[in-house]
Amino acid sequence: MSAKKKDVPNCIFCKIVSGDIKGEIVYKDADVIGFVDISPQAPKHILIIPRDHLVSIEDIAKKKPSVLESLMTAVPKIARKLKLSGGYRVVMNSGKDAGQLVPHLHLHLLGGRKFHWPPG
Ligand code: AMP
Ligand code: ZN
Repeated sequence: MSAKKKDVPNCIFCKIVSGDIKGEIVYKDADVIGFVDISPQAPKHILIIPRDHLVSIEDIAKKKPSVLESLMTAVPKIARKLKLSGGYRVVMNSGKDAGQLVPHLHLHLLGGRKFHWPPG
């Protein structure tokens, strides 16, 4: 097993980054990737994740503050690509009370419909 493979945690999103699990990738740069959510909650639902395994918002300041810039600067690029000119919603669930299911930091970019406030 190569060092690279050995270093991949047993994490579904790390496996999408490494290509071990197929994702419908719509965006890639040196730090983050964006791919279609498997259970979309809007006509356009993209997950933007760091290539590095960070668990949640709690890890950003501790491990890699620059990831925030990488995630957020990818948002308008992907929104333009998906033609979300009317707007979009960005959500980050952090921890169990927020309903975070996948313990690899990710940002949901949702668009293509109207959203309500307050969220559920
Ligand atoms: P969260 O509740 O914020 O942790 O959201 C995790 C998201 O990951 C959910 O919207 C899932 O539908 C999505 N998801 C889980 N597995 C995959 C996968 N293999 N490919 C794409 N999206 C996934
Ligand atoms: Zn991971």
